[in-house]
Formats: sequence, structure tokens, C-alpha cells
Amino acid sequence: MTIFSKIIAGEIPCYKVAENDRFFAFLDINPVNWGHTLVVPKKETDYLFDIDDEELGEMMIFTKKVAEAIKKAIPCRKVGMAVLGLEVPHAHIHLIPLQNEGDMDFAKKISNPSPEKMMEIAQSIAKFY
Ligand code: 5GP
Repeated sequence: MTIFSKIIAGEIPCYKVAENDRFFAFLDINPVNWGHTLVVPKKETDYLFDIDDEELGEMMIFTKKVAEAIKKAIPCRKVGMAVLGLEVPHAHIHLIPLQNEGDMDFAKKISNPSPEKMMEIAQSIAKFY
């Protein structure tokens, strides 16, 4: 079971943003920017581009809805999307609110984001989903 499956199962806490029967979205615990969200399929697959076409299409539609909610909740010019998957072997899409290019820099993380602020952000995004 991957760490993300444990999060989906509620065995590990997270700042949940949205969920449907097949996908789950929650804040990245080490955000590069406020509102940095991960979108994951509930079915475990390591590499995003190994997911079959139908599932990936549905995942993109769910991701779009989450991105629209982020855009409403967090002041930003656009919501950026990235696929890394180098750390956690459970496919996921990073959604990151952007003011400029530098906001997509994964080498820069917000240091010690407070639980209160993370909770507030997750709830404000969830409201718009
Ligand atoms: P990647 O696999 O895309 O290279 O990186 C995995 C991402 O998942 C990282 O941005 C990391 O901060 C995030 N992450 C890893 N473990 C956890 C966790 O237990 N909870 C949450 N919310 N995010 C995590």
C-alpha cells in the first residue's frame, strides 16, 4: 500500500481538498506555493502515463475541477500543472497556483507551513469544488 493509498483510506491524515469515487485531492505536505495540491487516482499505479486512456481522461476532468476551485480560492494568475513522481510511486498530478514562473520551482519549498494555514487553505479550496 502506498503512502497516498493510506491517505485516501484515512490511515494517514491530510488536508483534503476534494474527492469522488475514483480520485482524491489533498494539499502537498511540503508546498512549493500556498495551495499546492496533489491529485491522485484511488487505484494504485506508479507512473501516471501507464494509466489507461479512459481513467486518465476522467482524472484530467477531475483535475480541471480542482484547478478551477484553486483558482477561485487562491489569488493567482493561473494554476500550473506538473508531473514528477520521483518520490512517491503512486501516480499524481501537482497543481500549483502561479504568479510567475518561479512559483513552479520544486527546489523551493515553503518552510514549516502551519497546520492552521494549511487547514484554512484546504477548506477554502474545498468550498469551491
Ligand atoms: P514526487 O513523487 O512528485 O516527486 O513528489 C511527491 C510529492 O508528495 C512531494 O511534493 C511531497 O511533498 C509530497 N508528499 C510526500 N509524502 C506526503 C504525505 O505523506 N502527505 C502529503 N500531503 N504529501 C506528501
